[in-house]
Amino acid sequence: MDSKVSASRRPLGAALILLALAGCAGGATRPAEAPAPAGGTAAPAARVMEVPQLVGFEKAVAAQTRQRNGQPGPRYWQQWADYRLEAELNPISKRITGHGTIKYQNRSPDTLAEVYVQLLHNIFSPGARHDTNVPWAVEGLELDKVAAQGTALTAGNDGPGYQVDGTMMRIKLPRPIPPGGSADFEFNWRLRVPPDGAPRGGQDGEVWFISYWYPQMAVYDDVNGWQTDQYYGNAEFYMGYGNYDVALTVPAGWLVTSTGTLQNPEEVLTPQVRARLDSARSAPGIVRVVGEEDRGAGKATTTGTDGELTWRYRAENVRDVSWATSSKYLWDATSAAVGDADGDGKPDTARVESFWRPEMRRSHWDESARYGRHSVEFFSHFLWPYPYPHMTVVDGPTSCGGMEFPMMTCIGGQWDTLSMYEVVTHEIGHMWFPMMVGSDEKRFAWMDEGFTQFDQSQAMDDFFKGYDDEAENRQPYINLAVAGGEVELMHHGDRYPSYNAYATASYYKTATVLVALRGVLGRDLFRRAFTEYGRRWEFKHPTPWDFFNTVEDVAGRDLSWFWRPWFFETWKLDQAIDTVAPVGDSLEVTISNRGKAPMPVHLVVTRTDSRADTLDIPVSVWFDGTKRTTVRVAREPAVRTIEIDPGREFPDVDRSNGVWPR
Ligand SMILES: [Zn+2]
Repeated sequence: MDSKVSASRRPLGAALILLALAGCAGGATRPAEAPAPAGGTAAPAARVMEVPQLVGFEKAVAAQTRQRNGQPGPRYWQQWADYRLEAELNPISKRITGHGTIKYQNRSPDTLAEVYVQLLHNIFSPGARHDTNVPWAVEGLELDKVAAQGTALTAGNDGPGYQVDGTMMRIKLPRPIPPGGSADFEFNWRLRVPPDGAPRGGQDGEVWFISYWYPQMAVYDDVNGWQTDQYYGNAEFYMGYGNYDVALTVPAGWLVTSTGTLQNPEEVLTPQVRARLDSARSAPGIVRVVGEEDRGAGKATTTGTDGELTWRYRAENVRDVSWATSSKYLWDATSAAVGDADGDGKPDTARVESFWRPEMRRSHWDESARYGRHSVEFFSHFLWPYPYPHMTVVDGPTSCGGMEFPMMTCIGGQWDTLSMYEVVTHEIGHMWFPMMVGSDEKRFAWMDEGFTQFDQSQAMDDFFKGYDDEAENRQPYINLAVAGGEVELMHHGDRYPSYNAYATASYYKTATVLVALRGVLGRDLFRRAFTEYGRRWEFKHPTPWDFFNTVEDVAGRDLSWFWRPWFFETWKLDQAIDTVAPVGDSLEVTISNRGKAPMPVHLVVTRTDSRADTLDIPVSVWFDGTKRTTVRVAREPAVRTIEIDPGREFPDVDRSNGVWPR
């Protein structure tokens, strides 16, 4: 999610030069940097700094499901589910009636006597605990039928049956599922679509964005087993992968868009609409598939039976399905060039679509398909090709803000051109993290929000030709770091003391820390490591250690000194130029590390003839606890300024002491 965050940022507002080593890091002996950790299951080598480890991760390494070099292990496994879901929307009663079956495959080496199922809609149950705003008294998900392995179950504690605790349901199975076995589940349910004001979906009387609307298998993974954290509203989700066949019944004349590929276009769309949609594959611009005058049954959609139409979708290898419907939507479509997504050596395309109301033109929705196309193309190039059949930007209730779903976004509220592009590109960025790289958003929000915030900045720089969105992330982090009240990144998303502390850590600081990592590794190596992490864990469940280990593996360096301060602590960076004194034909520059975080020093010396040299002082000068180091630079030609990190790669909290003369 994003919009609360972007709305709170203030628009704010870099020089980098050549060459290394006119001086040396005088005096201090530098310990050689420790070698990168070995791959496989070997014990970790001694590190410069201790990085907290997770017991479950160590067990996973021992079980060979993960490796210390950041790759999935030879015995990596992951659960799988095939969903067949039906939903019928009654817009008068605002209810959805649902029916679904799930075939759950146990690919773990464990015998499962019970399973956990997420009922995320229960955040709307009367009295439900939540840490974000939720409309008053909506209703939870009403279960009319729960069956497992062909046996109807009742709620209860004894024997096979189910128990609902908030947003989590536990099912004690009639028969345990052995390793390699599977179990079938069946559910009938009803829910009321929440009004505007609900987080991440709902209806405002015109548009209906249907999210978290069905019983969904919780994640059982190799590190933690069942992840049964409640959904309280602030922290997001952890979801497993599966295939979905979905049948959505709505009034005829209402347009539908969903995660997945429409299976029955000839049943629900008129020939004119299908022809326009086809033309979007090759037309250079944006195709208006349904305009204002085309809306309604018999024009946009077929006339249906008894005033209803059933739209059928199939989605493969996704972690969720959401959908939206409205009688008011316009429909735009275009095509994005994504590169070779399927590995057959030929370039592929994905359809980019937008569903929006004409009244929302003031929020630049008429540009949304173009913004979406740029985003999909940019990330396909910057990261890796977008693999899904479509990416659709959806105008939703205001309280959606900006929210991502597989192949879909729900965007609500008012936007100017800059913020509209920003929210579109941010939510589309989430298709990579966490939709493809399926991390646990609740426990490690930075793994999807921070990475996406960083990616958003790269897309904005490209789209707005040099717009410095990285500065927009850095400043709120520095503000909180200086003011106090910062909480470390490795912190459960529902356990921050304030939304500001959560957002600063998960979005801004993480994005800023990635910029710093890029400064440490250099652009090419950083991008290689970042992408390699994503490709290794595409459609899998990485932990933070898989990210740390992959970066070290690709970089061939121990970076424990980087992970510890920036992810596990709230240590600050404050590098200062203490003194500049003439010594013979040199100037001796004394630099102190006034913060706790050790970082390399990028020192730029600019002379009166405008020549500028960069001296890189390696981070290892600080490893023995030294707080002060000196370098010497030539006295002539005369030095005009000496400045630490004028390119602002590192988030120094006090830049006023990093420049000479003051
Ligand atoms: Zn986000």
